[in-house]
Amino acid sequence: MTEILKLEHLEKSFGDHVVLRDINLSVSKGEVISVIGSSGSGKSTMLRCINLLEEPTGGRIIFEGNDISDKKNNVTSYRARVGMVFQQADDQLFMPTVEEDVAFGPSNMRLEPEEIRRRVTEALDAVGALHLRGASPFRLSGGQKKRVAIATVLSMEPSVLVMDEPTSNLDPRARRQIIDLIRRFGHTTLIATHDMEMVLDLCDRTIVMKQGRIVADGSTRHVFGDLALLEECGLEQPCEL
Ligand code: ADP
Ligand code: MG
Repeated sequence: MTEILKLEHLEKSFGDHVVLRDINLSVSKGEVISVIGSSGSGKSTMLRCINLLEEPTGGRIIFEGNDISDKKNNVTSYRARVGMVFQQADDQLFMPTVEEDVAFGPSNMRLEPEEIRRRVTEALDAVGALHLRGASPFRLSGGQKKRVAIATVLSMEPSVLVMDEPTSNLDPRARRQIIDLIRRFGHTTLIATHDMEMVLDLCDRTIVMKQGRIVADGSTRHVFGDLALLEECGLEQPCEL
């Protein structure tokens, strides 16, 4: 399998507070990986480091064989390749219309207007939100906002999707729609979540974090079968297992 993303001895501290310790991870093309762990274990910080929203205090991030921490000037193009869907859709939507929000990334990439229009249509279509293109993001339901937030990332045509708790605060139907979308995309995907049923449904591989370390990395069924590990990390086995 082709390795697309690799974290080597990644560290992150905020002042004296060490939040990520010696994170090592190799992601192959096409994998859908969950990142689980109790609140405060470092899931979001790891994803934010991968997206360079936080600067790691140690270690390396290798994307398609290149050390991306060496290329500070190329953050925009890297972020287009490794797109992040924030936990709060409101943090991702800030333009007057859905269409402008979805066009924002491609416009930043300085693409031709025609190409931008093509991408906006394609991304909105992919999340079933074409009919919302003229709407104000602030008037949408939680599920609609989440789908549009995903479209703002898809329009950059990323190779890797990084999603922070994509199903939190959604009603059951909106949650199901998001899960079905992720399944259909076929992107290499990292998903931080507490939604263990979704993990079982979507992710063949699961990473377990505890106090800023990766304490397990293996097949989802194997991880969920390890009751001692789940207990130690404050996690619950999904009901369906
Ligand atoms: P999770 O997503 O697993 O709940 P986080 O990555 O959000 O965990 O947080 C891990 C730890 O890092 C927590 O102790 C949190 O307080 C701390 N942390 C996260 N962001 C910051 C920040 N900007 N400044 C200081 N501490 C932070
Ligand atoms: Mg988090």
